[in-house]
Amino acid sequence: MIRAWSVFVAMPELPDIVVLTRSMNEVLPGRTIIDATVNQPKVLNKTVEVFISLITGRKIMQIRQRGKWILAELDKNLVLAFNLGMGGEIILHAAEEKPDPKKERVVLHLDNSKQLWIHFWWFGHVHLIESTEIHCHKQIGNLGVEPLSTEFSRGKLSDILSGRRGRIKSYLLDQRVIAGIGNVYIQDILWRARLHPERKANTLSDIDISLLHQAILVTLQEGIRYGGGPKEHDIWGNEGRYPEHYQVAYRTGKPCPRCQSIIEKIRVGSTTSYICPRCQT
Ligand SMILES: [Zn+2]
Repeated sequence: MIRAWSVFVAMPELPDIVVLTRSMNEVLPGRTIIDATVNQPKVLNKTVEVFISLITGRKIMQIRQRGKWILAELDKNLVLAFNLGMGGEIILHAAEEKPDPKKERVVLHLDNSKQLWIHFWWFGHVHLIESTEIHCHKQIGNLGVEPLSTEFSRGKLSDILSGRRGRIKSYLLDQRVIAGIGNVYIQDILWRARLHPERKANTLSDIDISLLHQAILVTLQEGIRYGGGPKEHDIWGNEGRYPEHYQVAYRTGKPCPRCQSIIEKIRVGSTTSYICPRCQT
């Protein structure tokens, strides 16, 4: 099952989460959650009874993105934190539509005859957290720098990588180092920076670091501009168009947009990489 789906199911990354968060902010602030249905209790950090009693009657204030997490701020100092795991989506439906209880993990019923269906295949979470406790949350509290924040300067990236002897790809994917990059956008980030994914992080020159810093910003911003990545959706179900703009990602056998060499698919640790063998040595 996992093998069959692994081709089609990806984990939403920062651009996908930004797109979804923006669309949620267009329709959810000011709405009140009037009830919830939990079809998979293990995605919660509380019992179903406690979750439903705490969430019922809460007003949604605003939605924020942090790494691969979506943080919906509620009144009464609560935060509803979503991690969409693999193949996750949050879609708005009319109240009369019937969710499939085997597919939709949690359904939130809203006061405007709408409902939110929260779905993922694996590894997703729907956590209700006191806003003062969010820095103690096991995953959110340990997230690294947000790459589209002003904090993420070229110097910050240099500091992050200095003394790191492992491969560059591993650090860029480590959520405790930089939050939000996954195995889709990393492909074009490394290609733009002309870095081989196996390159040791502490061998990067100042020019390499500047190129990598730019590559991270450009690639993530392109992902947002094109509405997110493969099989990722905003709250209305519009699919991301970034795959139409891939540079090397998922383009095995096709020409590199820069030098026309044939793009290769290689194994790097436990992940797949797509590289131009001439640009990324
Ligand atoms: Zn090339």
